[in-house]
Amino acid sequence: MSKPTALKRAVFLDRDGTIIRDKGYLKDPAGIELVPGAVETLKALCREGWKLIIISNQSGVGRGLMTLDEMNAVQAKVVRLLRGHGIEITASYLCTHSPDDECECRKPAIGALEKASKEHSVDISQSWMVGDRESDILCGRNAECSTIWFRTPEFDVARELPDFVADSWAEVYEKISDA
Ligand SMILES: [Mg+2]
Ligand SMILES: [Zn+2]
Repeated sequence: MSKPTALKRAVFLDRDGTIIRDKGYLKDPAGIELVPGAVETLKALCREGWKLIIISNQSGVGRGLMTLDEMNAVQAKVVRLLRGHGIEITASYLCTHSPDDECECRKPAIGALEKASKEHSVDISQSWMVGDRESDILCGRNAECSTIWFRTPEFDVARELPDFVADSWAEVYEKISDA
């Protein structure tokens, strides 16, 4: 009999508008700009043993606004940049479809989150989703993990949807630590 794998807790992270500034279909790594406070909180979570998994909609590919190579170059730089700050991103799941494709991996669908959980032995019920848009919160809710709306002036989210609202990365850290 094989030993059961101990399930891990994860923080599923939206990327654009949450970890880096949302510049709209960013395809040039030079345009990457970290959101203030992200490094400090992600470093702390990483040190505490949380798996950090990026779940990102990159429909710019499916819409023909960027190539797969451009998308991958941006993502590789984000991961490298974070690693330089002592933050290990366990894995990244990027949906390249356009909304018309009706795929299972574009948030708020939970295909990517579930795949990530299987591949990295994550206990979804002990995990979190952090993101700035309603699709992030709905994805987390649909998958039944705890949700934090990273509130910005750009997007509105119905207040009853997220479990918590954070106006800064410091607040994200507080919510996760206090829970
Ligand atoms: Mg976002
Ligand atoms: Zn997809």
